[in-house]
Amino acid sequence: MKLLEDKNVIITGASRGIGMGIAQVFADHGANVAFTYSSSEAPALELEKELIAKGVKAKAYKSNAASFKEAEDLVAKVLEDFEGRIDVLINNAGITKDNLLMRMSEADFDAVIDINLKSVFNMTKAVQRTLLKQRKGSIINMSSVVGVKGNAGQTNYAASKAGMIGFTKSVALELGSRNIRCNAIAPGFIETEMTDKLDEKTVQGWRDGIPLKRGGSTEDIANACLYFASDLSSYVTGQVLNVDGGMLT
Ligand code: NAP
Repeated sequence: MKLLEDKNVIITGASRGIGMGIAQVFADHGANVAFTYSSSEAPALELEKELIAKGVKAKAYKSNAASFKEAEDLVAKVLEDFEGRIDVLINNAGITKDNLLMRMSEADFDAVIDINLKSVFNMTKAVQRTLLKQRKGSIINMSSVVGVKGNAGQTNYAASKAGMIGFTKSVALELGSRNIRCNAIAPGFIETEMTDKLDEKTVQGWRDGIPLKRGGSTEDIANACLYFASDLSSYVTGQVLNVDGGMLT
């Protein structure tokens, strides 16, 4: 069964990792996919081709999620290219710039807040009018278990991911009466380029703390997004779903 037949979806940061996994699973479910990258053009264009070959409409856009103006321009272009309708927004773009608070620079704090959190405000504002007119829409924000429980060495990242949860719940309250749902996913340890940067000891430490004793795949996260994006979750809003192999249990 295809759960997203002819739905138009925007995914930020899909040139690799979790965003790419979501784009692939969504296209398999019949969704048309507009997705962004900030610098990884070659893999983004490859993904665009791959999705089109699955028989859906797909387009890669270079757009810095941290820029309010670029988010507005992006949504205007997507509306032109995808027949004026947006059914689902997935705020997935994110970065880490880890350091102990003692050594963290102001620039690294600001960059993580701007790309991970301000971007969610930018994109949600930019699609809001369209979703209100449609009286339907699903917004999914990619938070993290670190936003729920904190993590030493990631004050900037944890603050951005916790902020996304507050934002998610507030949007759910503001827009619920117009049939616009907003939920967050809190992935645990998912094997992507973001986690490839960690040393083996840290990775083993994460794995040891996971009841399912493995890192998650991008498909594990994409499947959770599929639930929130589709009508399977039509009575669910304002929620944070931990997809973490039981890590926070
Ligand atoms: P990743 O492999 O590093 O991919 C990040 C994606 O975001 C890339 O496509 C990147 O494209 C894009 N991006 C970065 N800065 C951007 C910007 N300013 N504007 C637009 N796009 C931008 O990361 P990931 O592991 O897939 O993580 C995806 C999301 O899941 C992030 O929000 C992350 O915090 C969250 N998450 C990941 C894990 C995990 O274990 N991997 C756990 C919890 C939460 P460019 O290369 O073109 O910049």
